[in-house]
Amino acid sequence: MLRSAIAVVGLALVLASQTPADDRLPPWTRGTLDYHQISTGRGNAALIVFPDGTTMLVDAGAAGDGQAMADTEPRPNGSRTAGAWIADYLHSMNVARLDYALLTHFHVDHIGGINDVGDRVAIATVIDRGHEYLTPPDDDATFRKYRAFLQAQGARGVMPEAIRVGRADQIVLRRDRAAFPSVEVRNVAANGDVWTGRGDEVTHIFPPPASLRAEDRPSENMCSIGLRLRYGRFDLFTGGDMPGVPDAGAPAWQSVESAVARAIGPTDVHVVNHHGSIDPESEGFLSTLRSPVMILPSWSPTHPSQDALKRMLASRLYPGPHDIFATVLRAPTRASIGARADQLKADHGHIVLRVAPGGESYRVFVLDDTTEARAILGVFGPYEAR
Ligand SMILES: [Zn+2]
Repeated sequence: MLRSAIAVVGLALVLASQTPADDRLPPWTRGTLDYHQISTGRGNAALIVFPDGTTMLVDAGAAGDGQAMADTEPRPNGSRTAGAWIADYLHSMNVARLDYALLTHFHVDHIGGINDVGDRVAIATVIDRGHEYLTPPDDDATFRKYRAFLQAQGARGVMPEAIRVGRADQIVLRRDRAAFPSVEVRNVAANGDVWTGRGDEVTHIFPPPASLRAEDRPSENMCSIGLRLRYGRFDLFTGGDMPGVPDAGAPAWQSVESAVARAIGPTDVHVVNHHGSIDPESEGFLSTLRSPVMILPSWSPTHPSQDALKRMLASRLYPGPHDIFATVLRAPTRASIGARADQLKADHGHIVLRVAPGGESYRVFVLDDTTEARAILGVFGPYEAR
């Protein structure tokens, strides 16, 4: 359900500018940057189509796949695995090949579906956070399955690359880089390494694990990859499940968001960290990024938490819009959040951010995630890039 007059106006504009029966997303065109947060109800998956047609998948989650009692709400339905639906979405957007598949960290709601994607869509380059810092244990079923994915890719000649934090030359346009010099993908964080914002300089924010009490050691979420996409004046940040509000009594360095915010500063759009659950979207992160648009990759009943949503909507932190677009808002979540849930611009759907050629402005399309037709439910913007 969409709850905004702007949505109604936006939809009317789109319908007026197309044939009445055409309620599908207009195809990507050269010069445009598209970011799609794909709704599977089972974790994160995002498709990026760069202005020259270079394609990248960020994560392929599959929480609860194949589990009869799983507490998930598969979209559009449970007839296929999450990975198969992600591949179907890619095909529906005319993406036959991925130049990059990047996995932010080794949890099932971020990597569980990558095997099924890899079986259906060719991948040229796989990037993950590397296996040396905080290696998942051998009995971790998700990581075992991921190793099988890497083996299958290896058989096709694709070797994984570990993210090189601080660099802006690892993920580059592959089709026509010279035509779009203002596009940049900056590797901002992973494994406690965080870009400082100066050149390619990196600082390491985690103390040596051996010096820490067991309960204070860095977690898998804290090791998430963070990326900043730039196109002209426009920028977007996505950071997996990195936390921003340390648990009570935990050390301040555990707010990976703090170091990231210092490096990137004001950011037009950010993908909400850790699904908006209890520990991300700290006050400092929000008031530094000042994002008018936030994409919330929610799937579980704990997404978003009441506190995180309240912070994200707080008009005292910065002026202007705080427009939040959620992939799935579960019924128990809506019931517990109450009236504040009505302030979401979308409470379900594939969230598609379309950045105009040159990066001057962008719009948000919400596509129906309950059927394969993926009809437009609403259009928001244009927003001016800052
Ligand atoms: Zn997650």
